[in-house]
Amino acid sequence: MIRMSERVLVTGAGGFVGHHLVSFLKQKGYWVRGVDVKRPEFATTEADEFLLLDLRRWENCLTATREIDEVYALAADMGGMGFISSHHAQILHNNILISTHTLEAARENGASRYFFSSSACIYPEYRQTETDVAPLKEEDAYPAEPQDAYGWEKLVTELLCGYYAQEGDLQTRVARFHNIYGPLGTWRGGREKAPAALCRKVAVAKLTGDHEIEIWGDGQQTRSFCYVDDCVEGIYRLMRSDHGEPLNLGQDRMVTIDGLADIVADAAGIEIVKRHVPGPQGVRGRNSDNTRLAEVLGWTPGISLEDGLARTYAWIEDEVGRAMEEERVEASALATG
Ligand code: NAD
Repeated sequence: MIRMSERVLVTGAGGFVGHHLVSFLKQKGYWVRGVDVKRPEFATTEADEFLLLDLRRWENCLTATREIDEVYALAADMGGMGFISSHHAQILHNNILISTHTLEAARENGASRYFFSSSACIYPEYRQTETDVAPLKEEDAYPAEPQDAYGWEKLVTELLCGYYAQEGDLQTRVARFHNIYGPLGTWRGGREKAPAALCRKVAVAKLTGDHEIEIWGDGQQTRSFCYVDDCVEGIYRLMRSDHGEPLNLGQDRMVTIDGLADIVADAAGIEIVKRHVPGPQGVRGRNSDNTRLAEVLGWTPGISLEDGLARTYAWIEDEVGRAMEEERVEASALATG
């Protein structure tokens, strides 16, 4: 169905989930404006218009939200555990500015609906101290004690969304993502998350023949992981629903990080040797309780970890192979030049 009259904004459209969401919304027939400080790194955007804007700045948020009906706010300064456990001031400063300015600009420009991408990182550390934790329900968020500044900003912006909805005409929707992974996401450089990092390490192991890979911590820390196609489907279903409270969006199958590495190794078709090294691990265990997700959306994420990781691994192995080839060509040019 063509929905040319409906103009939507995706912020963070140069990033991983934002890029996939733009493609999804284009397929649904929306006119899409993408905004980010950078263009998508691995594929061309399908957005009708793509603006390079720094959303920490108020005037840029006004430009981004002009003549827009619905906003999908995904822009954030973020990364995997290595990044978010060591850049608290930068993350809190940047994300507060991005979130508060984007929300207020959307209201001022008369948008009708607003989606905010929150995170499982808002849940209190004291509920996540064991590997075999109880899945987190939405109401477990309080009394609040997120582990990192990243989670505190998400929690405050969740509240802000609720207040805007109560006190004005802007309807807000909030999803708490639980570890989203898939192709076309950052896989090196320090901001990559565990699934991409493990795919990269296993691909290097396969392509070099050295099958030992490093794992941060003892490998027994647990998480659940959700494939990006399920994530964008869930975002869209939530946006179309009448549910104004924060909602978990993730899978509820909990695995250890060692278990995750084994699934990636299976996808690669190799045996790996794990070497456990000190490194940031985040909370000890985390899983999503999807009871409310199923009730509200009549749907839960369905793509299996094996299937999703096989697709992700195949893409990252290609990327790693290309990068290794480029390094080899550069090294031989230096040697001969
Ligand atoms: P990402 O880093 O790939 O995308 C975020 C994008 O925001 C990046 O492209 C970045 O350039 C952009 N951005 C940063 N600062 C900006 C600024 N000042 N102005 C404009 N754009 C700016 O991350 P992602 O994985 O696609 O995550 C999307 C959203 O979902 C984020 O809000 C993130 O916090 C949230 N989230 C993601 C996960 C996950 O597992 N991927 C989990 C929980 C929450």
